[in-house]
Amino acid sequence: MPIRSVDPRSGVAFGPEFTEADEAEVETAVARAARAQDALGQAGPPAIAAALRAAAEALDAERGDLVALADTETALGTARLAGEVGRTTGQLRAFADLVATGAHLRPAVSVVPGGAPARDVRKINVPVGVVAVFAASNFPFAFSVAGGDTAAALAAGCAVIVKAHYGHPQTSQRVAGILSATLDRVGLPPDTVQLLHGGTTAGQLLVGHPGVAAVGFTGSTAGGRALTDLAARRPAPIPVYAEQGSLNPVVLAPSAFRGPGSRALAAQLGGAVTMGAGQFCTKPGVLLVPADHREEFSRDLIGVLGTAPPAHLLTAKIREQYEQAVATAAATPGVTGWRGGQPGTGFGAAAAVLSCDQPALVAESALREELFGPAVLVVGVRDVGELRAALRVLGGNLTGTVHGDPSDDWTLTALGVLAGQVGRLIYQGVPTGVAVVPAMHHGGPYPASSSARETSVGTDAIHRFLRPLAFQDFPADLLPSALRHLS
Ligand code: NAP
Repeated sequence: MPIRSVDPRSGVAFGPEFTEADEAEVETAVARAARAQDALGQAGPPAIAAALRAAAEALDAERGDLVALADTETALGTARLAGEVGRTTGQLRAFADLVATGAHLRPAVSVVPGGAPARDVRKINVPVGVVAVFAASNFPFAFSVAGGDTAAALAAGCAVIVKAHYGHPQTSQRVAGILSATLDRVGLPPDTVQLLHGGTTAGQLLVGHPGVAAVGFTGSTAGGRALTDLAARRPAPIPVYAEQGSLNPVVLAPSAFRGPGSRALAAQLGGAVTMGAGQFCTKPGVLLVPADHREEFSRDLIGVLGTAPPAHLLTAKIREQYEQAVATAAATPGVTGWRGGQPGTGFGAAAAVLSCDQPALVAESALREELFGPAVLVVGVRDVGELRAALRVLGGNLTGTVHGDPSDDWTLTALGVLAGQVGRLIYQGVPTGVAVVPAMHHGGPYPASSSARETSVGTDAIHRFLRPLAFQDFPADLLPSALRHLS
């Protein structure tokens, strides 16, 4: 079926139709990517660093038009989208700086004693090969065509084939055009980054293709898991680095209510729930509060969510999934619910504050499903025993947040359990607003991501697309240049 942009504020389709890539197009794209991959290898890190910088400049130069276009396809707002272009070009420049140092190659040499002559072993990181990237719906720039996965793979020296997200096809096409023109201008093959439109079939053809060596994915747990399973069933399995759904539990200890108080906590956390219409992988989704504060805190949160601007969800499918997930959670035994706020037109969705006691959360798996949109679940917890059990049942998450005095039993219990289950701990803050810095970790134990060791944000993300290669007893002129003069 052809793919077309739809304005989330009206629900009306507009712009050109894009055809779904079929088997022949996937085949052609992989063959071109393989040729581009060879050319990248010849060009080496300095040319790649220059290309990353040139891409950042070209995107910055088109920022105004890109933002206006993306806003019509996503309704995320021009201020947020302008910031996102800055984040995207900042990522490209950060990878350029890293690649220029050569530090990502981690060259190493060892002399193995005992033989005559002693053996000489040298190791360096090399690109894994062609990478398939599944663009995210909720970041039309920073996790899409020129986003973090593409930047990391390109920095590693890998050619990239992006599967566009159907929620912003025109923005994807425009960014892909800017990237190809830039690559061409700096002397690299324009096919180094290619774009395919398409649905489930195109995505699966790409992941199943023997010429693809690794996959980057941002989206639902179901989608990430399906692609991970598919990649594992291939005759030659490949890694899928999937950043998936997350509940991002927040613990509000009794001491937090004696400190900032219920209203201030509701204002801070409610703001994070409604930001981007609640469509952040780091949205605080489950708030664990002392049972005797549950009612007052839920009321304060309703006050915040009830006055937030109308939320327009990204696509009709996302809106439908949101409505279904909220309805299922609200109908679960032991749950009380509020729906309200300003629903908006098109893919507008009313906010939701649901509430239950700890035993319901532990008993009902429906309450542990991500609500991707402006909704939150408040859970009343009686003591640290219940707190520990609630956190354990919430399992792997991208983040875990704790508000409370350092000496509060709840604080220490929560931090202890969460440290074993999340990729990032936050103290007295909100999990939204992921800083793109080298020390960031954006990932977490399953189901938050497919590999708890890897991050999809920050320059360490490059290591998903590199593999070590060792050389034993090689003459200098056959070694990669970074290994030649190492002693
Ligand atoms: P999605 O449904 O997982 O889709 C993401 C991409 O993966 C799309 O291109 C989709 O294409 C493809 N895909 C999904 N399942 C597939 C399968 N079985 N085989 C091949 N390709 C598949 O994510 P979404 O469109 O963003 O939907 C929203 C949901 O994703 C939300 O409910 C939320 O839970 C989650 N989400 C999470 C994050 C995060 O950062 N953790 C970000 C965005 C969204 P087709 O749909 O065309 O198959």
